[in-house]
Amino acid sequence: MSAGLVQAAYIVAALFFVMSLAGLSKQESARAGNYYGITGMAIALLATIFAPGTSGLVWIIIAMVIGGTIGIHFAKKVEMTQMPQLVAILHSFVGMAAVLVGYNSFIEAPETVTHAEHVIHLVEVFVGVFIGAVTFTGSIVAFGKLHGVLKSSPLNIPHKHKWNLAAIIVSTLLLIYFVNVDGSYFALIVMTLIAFVFGYHLVASIGGADMPVVVSMLNSYSGWAAAAAGFMLANDLLIVTGALVGSSGAILSYIMCKAMNRSFVSVIAGGFGQEVVISDEGEQGEHREIMAEDVAELLKNSKSVVITPGYGMAVAQAQYPVSEITEKLRAQGIEVRFGIHPVAGRLPGHMNVLLAEAKVPYEIVLEMDEINDDLSETDTVLVIGANDTVNPAALEDPNSPIAGMPVLEVWNAKDVIVFKRSMNTGYAGVQNPLFFKENTQMLFGDAKASCLHILEHLD
Ligand code: NDP
Repeated sequence: MSAGLVQAAYIVAALFFVMSLAGLSKQESARAGNYYGITGMAIALLATIFAPGTSGLVWIIIAMVIGGTIGIHFAKKVEMTQMPQLVAILHSFVGMAAVLVGYNSFIEAPETVTHAEHVIHLVEVFVGVFIGAVTFTGSIVAFGKLHGVLKSSPLNIPHKHKWNLAAIIVSTLLLIYFVNVDGSYFALIVMTLIAFVFGYHLVASIGGADMPVVVSMLNSYSGWAAAAAGFMLANDLLIVTGALVGSSGAILSYIMCKAMNRSFVSVIAGGFGQEVVISDEGEQGEHREIMAEDVAELLKNSKSVVITPGYGMAVAQAQYPVSEITEKLRAQGIEVRFGIHPVAGRLPGHMNVLLAEAKVPYEIVLEMDEINDDLSETDTVLVIGANDTVNPAALEDPNSPIAGMPVLEVWNAKDVIVFKRSMNTGYAGVQNPLFFKENTQMLFGDAKASCLHILEHLD
């Protein structure tokens, strides 16, 4: 393949990636978006493998077969509820790849003509390794927190922000030294170790409800790490693709910060400026229970129903019976709509994906902002496996760890039914005063089993 053809293929692949991002921004076009992404990646791979400068084809193919087999195995095995962990661990691979590419590019430095080019290469190596190392350990901590092997509450070591600042200052001084002495293994290795600890600390300092922002932020970092690797390898497509992932991840983080009423700078700086106050939840009062058949009666006598799903719906895989309940109620002339909180579940868009999978019509799936004002006019709200995203403490208790986060104000409806298995807290680890409100009743049990019981009594 000639160099010109490779460049042309790279441009076409980059266009497919842009179309993929555009497609993924809407549910209706998300499937097409995925296909555009796959096509772009296939073109990019073929063009790179058959590019004039590529050697060691056999090794590349062996690596691809091994990597591809492991990837397919895990992608098939992973449950929908484990997707966020999978995404986090994949980001860590991108981070480690950038570190390895950086070291490789330092050991086998490309030929540079001018001194300026040489300096630029050294800076690329240093910055690429730094971003990659932060992404690597940060993503591993995110994986641990999402998988439940590390505690989700924030790590609060004394003077944590000063430590972060010190890490950045020392790394910057090492960069200056690295460039001045024309490259130094000592500076590179010390900075890599600092960046590993910095990445770990940055994500470990962020707690419970802020994890969605961290996941999208790491997504962004992994993009910048890929772009840095692209600079080191002088590969235009990797630079473009990395920049696309980096900037779209940054935009997503910003949108999620806005949705959660969090400061973007505060979250990317590892929870900077947040005072963590453990609120004394005290006595919450009595909760009331309800049986599935009574919920069915309540639904049949309602004119309008809103369903607010959360992580528990994903765990129970209750989206299919939820969809059937929706169909049956709509057939009886009852208005049914869904209210989706931006961080419901464990992945941006998690609930939308599940509901689309169960063929719930898109037009009745509304965003939190679109449904909140209507909740006071709603007869019955079904809270299916949601907790933090419907917690009034976010608005009422300034000391709550989720204080300030906008929530679905379900308590304004006439009746609220909460589907869950126990009185346990949600992801942020705080009790939910909604469960003790006068118009709330608890339907205990696995959400799927509860929905199936309701279905039996809906005819
Ligand atoms: P939560 O995680 O707050 O609560 C889920 C609830 O589901 C729990 O209270 C649990 O109660 C219940 N549940 C679990 N399994 C079942 C089951 N089989 N049947 C019935 N109920 C079940 O959910 P939300 O969706 O409201 O909130 C999401 C939280 O996750 C937020 O704090 C968000 O910040 C965080 N997060 C979100 C991410 C994202 O990108 N969306 C990423 C990372 C974190 P019980 O055990 O009693 O059944």
